[in-house]
Amino acid sequence: MLQLSGEKFRLHDAYDRLIIEPSVGADLASIEAKASRIFGISAYEVAHSTKPDLRHITDLSSRLLKASGIKALRINSHRSYKQFKFDSMDIIHKVAERASSLGIEPRVKGFDGEIFISVTKEKAFVFVNKRKGAGGLPVVASGKCIVLLSGGIDSPVAAWYAMKRGLTPVYMHVHGFASNKEAQESKIPRIISILSGYWPGQRTYYIPSHVFQMAAIKAKAGRYELVLMKSFMLRLARQVAGKEGADCIVTGESLGQVASQTLSNIAAEEDAIEMPILRPLIGFDKQEIIRKAVEIGTYEQSIRPYRDVCSINARNPATSCGVKVLRGIAKEMKLDAVVRQSLKKAQVQ
Ligand code: ATP
Ligand code: MG
Repeated sequence: MLQLSGEKFRLHDAYDRLIIEPSVGADLASIEAKASRIFGISAYEVAHSTKPDLRHITDLSSRLLKASGIKALRINSHRSYKQFKFDSMDIIHKVAERASSLGIEPRVKGFDGEIFISVTKEKAFVFVNKRKGAGGLPVVASGKCIVLLSGGIDSPVAAWYAMKRGLTPVYMHVHGFASNKEAQESKIPRIISILSGYWPGQRTYYIPSHVFQMAAIKAKAGRYELVLMKSFMLRLARQVAGKEGADCIVTGESLGQVASQTLSNIAAEEDAIEMPILRPLIGFDKQEIIRKAVEIGTYEQSIRPYRDVCSINARNPATSCGVKVLRGIAKEMKLDAVVRQSLKKAQVQ
């Protein structure tokens, strides 16, 4: 399991569940933090193992319960190897006895914690409280996407939702710096590194915007510059998708959030793209997006000061561009040639 690489553990498939067994010297907190971010897992357990006999099971349970802070306990036991002299009820009784002696009340209802004991032929696994996994689908289940990543709050959240539904992201960032190196030393790689906690190992395309900026000034794009910039980015993403074998493009747009995110502008931007463009946040309020950004850990980096190329262009943008107008200016400024030239200046990391 790639997300847990670097950790000391063994994985077990005990009947229908995934059990993570920390090895000697393992960092339990780090394993748990990483495991809770793996998409496609609805529940997981970090388990300790011992010999499959009553004394060892009770001793290990006692040790874990002492550290758990549980006051009222439900005890669950499952024995997949039926040849032992004891059965699940014997285990429950013994552990209940030990819990009582620790001042923990065994209960079937109204408990504040649970212990799970799973006995196989070779080992007994004991874990306290079942952890909720990240849900969703395993990443790589749905194909590859190009994520248009800005330095803002929204696009990292959109990337997270894309990964949640099984898409492997390749990131693309358009920057206003004089060199790609400056963009690579900005907060963008830090945001990507946080997202990589959910699925590591993707590439990032850093692409300068100056070829576009020059052409837009020459063509007197004016209030249409922002819509053209989006069209430029989507055309770039389409080319990158071709190189990467990606099947779709993901953006952090949500309808009506800012003046430029109107249906008419969105329609103009995506003209000529001929690839699905997914906008996972289309119906989200800003507050909902912020809450999610805090939860997934990207918020803090996203609010750091950064001059995104879109915010530079955002003064008094056209709210209703229309496909025809955009096609006219795109032709005049030779937008597709601008895309090709800009791609040549890209750096992939
Ligand atoms: P965000 O919070 O993601 O920056 P936003 O609310 O600022 O979004 P816009 O500036 O309209 O909204 O950007 C909409 C989307 O366009 C972003 O979510 C992102 O997918 C894409 N985008 C914006 N700027 C860039 C950029 N510099 N490089 C790549 N994609 C970008
Ligand atoms: Mg932005």
